[in-house]
Amino acid sequence: MEQKHSLPENLGFLLKNMKLYAPRSFRLLFVCIPVRVLMPFIGILLPNIVVRAITEQAELRGLIAVVATLGIVMAAASFLDQWGMGVIQTEAPWLSEGIYDRLIYRQMECDYENLEKEEFLKRFSDAERNIWFNQRYIRTAASNMVMLGSGIFGFVTYLAVLHRLPVWLLLLMTAATLVSFFSADLGEKQRMKRQFFLGEGVNKIGYLQRMSADPKAGKDIRLYGLFPWIEETFLRFHREIRRDYISIEKKNFLSGLIAAGMGILMEGAAYLYLTGMVIGGKIALADYVLYIGAVLGFTVWIRQIAEQVQKLWMMKGDVDVIRACLDMPDRSAVLREGREAVPAEPHLHAPCEIEFDHVSYRYAGSEKDVIRDLSFRIKKGERIALVGMNGAGKTTCVKLLCGLLEPTAGRILIDGVPSVEFERKEYYRLFSTVFQEIHPFPATILENITGQEKGKEDRERVARCLELAGLSQRVEAMPRKLDTLLVKEMEENAVNLSGGEQQRLLLARALYKEAPMLILDEPTAALDPISESNVYQKYFELTQNSTSIFISHRLASTRFCDRILFLEDGQITESGTHEQLLALDGKYAEAFGVQSRYYQENLQEGEVVFS
Ligand code: ADP
Repeated sequence: MEQKHSLPENLGFLLKNMKLYAPRSFRLLFVCIPVRVLMPFIGILLPNIVVRAITEQAELRGLIAVVATLGIVMAAASFLDQWGMGVIQTEAPWLSEGIYDRLIYRQMECDYENLEKEEFLKRFSDAERNIWFNQRYIRTAASNMVMLGSGIFGFVTYLAVLHRLPVWLLLLMTAATLVSFFSADLGEKQRMKRQFFLGEGVNKIGYLQRMSADPKAGKDIRLYGLFPWIEETFLRFHREIRRDYISIEKKNFLSGLIAAGMGILMEGAAYLYLTGMVIGGKIALADYVLYIGAVLGFTVWIRQIAEQVQKLWMMKGDVDVIRACLDMPDRSAVLREGREAVPAEPHLHAPCEIEFDHVSYRYAGSEKDVIRDLSFRIKKGERIALVGMNGAGKTTCVKLLCGLLEPTAGRILIDGVPSVEFERKEYYRLFSTVFQEIHPFPATILENITGQEKGKEDRERVARCLELAGLSQRVEAMPRKLDTLLVKEMEENAVNLSGGEQQRLLLARALYKEAPMLILDEPTAALDPISESNVYQKYFELTQNSTSIFISHRLASTRFCDRILFLEDGQITESGTHEQLLALDGKYAEAFGVQSRYYQENLQEGEVVFS
């Protein structure tokens, strides 16, 4: 559930983001808000000055000078308003873009496990919708703030002008304006409801109308004498629509009446009072004119505040959804709270030791642990095969090791240091991992391999890694070589690599990273078993300087490893060399036998393709 924020908090959030992403608009708020009050204020001040000049028989030239000055101020204010609001409206999408970008960054930086949760994805897509498709709200937030700000500023200014009126009258005016506003608003809602009812009624009648002209129904209508029934249904629909319509109109009329009545009551009371004051000689005629203008303006400001508060209220839920995404706590951060972060640097230059210490993991919403109390140790530089049937938990194990998931119980230690002691980004530096999924980024081959900012890449090392990964010939044949763009869908002059080539690219990337631990999670699953075995053999030769973990559900592919861990239902049930496990004649041997027979049969039938 989202955390609920108050209206002022949400307003603060929008203002803060506006300052960040549309700073000019933010500064212009301080221009447009007073200007929007100043303009109508000059409008009510002018008659006051003129009447005062006439009643006090002031000098005409002086009056003309004052009026001319006010005219110039008015023109300048109007220009500022036009310009300021123009800028604010032009920059309105910047606020949405800014918040949207933050949302995307959050999505990229949050705990990986969130990306596998449906609830998380839905929440983000809701937030995205609230930013882009709820045009009323975030996109018009800047103009709304000008309206709200000028409403409040105008209210205070006019209150100061009207300070000589009794408090009860000011309260009455405020209350009557609010009642009038909300009843008019109710009327508006009723009108929308009426449109809806009308639409529904038209749909029902439309169905009958289409039926009456449809030859298929036409046969039945005639042969079964359905005409009276249809006629009755028609009439019933009409009666229902009229009933709803009249009831809505009645309510509409009532709310209109209340709105108008309140207006008359409030203005009538104010006019009566002011007229009494001027007749009684308590205020001058000029002030009478000023007050009458101010009374009208005062209610406009109240109405404006009510309208904007209502809009903010309506967008509250939307902003809450966005803020919930941005403020979502990461479990990894909670686990690291209060710990001093250990740097990865001392562990980067030699193969590391890995230890799983009673590790369990359960996916959110899942009923049981996918990894169950798993303990094992991998020595520095050891080559391990993690094998097991589909669904045994191999990939989950890898994600846990790489820090993409945090264990729900137990710990993972690297060279004896618990994984949570490393700052997360630092921890990621320890691993070169190639997953099954192929995902080249819409960037150059060089950027795909190095992932570095421009100028920081080591081109020679990239070339070496491409050579080792068996992709250099293909890249050399491209006109722009390492600077060739990938992903044609994003750039017209880009290149799309084949599945196998992409795999090699990802291997080159993993080699370039030169991390002390290399993990290959079935990156060859799309290949046939023999090819996979060949590719793994090659990886094996390339991984002299790291602790390596090879994962496969094809048991033959990883025979070359120093040790094989056989994973079954989230637990290691057998461990040893290929020969030892065969000699053990347990699950591994059984599965290996089944797979070998299957592949041999398929081989004999020529189904396996060599590459
Ligand atoms: P393997 O790599 O051995 O095929 P996985 O680690 O991918 O196994 O999956 C182990 C178990 O966890 C499977 O039962 C799978 O359905 C379940 N699982 C994997 N990912 C998720 C997820 N994101 N949410 C819930 N269950 C998952």
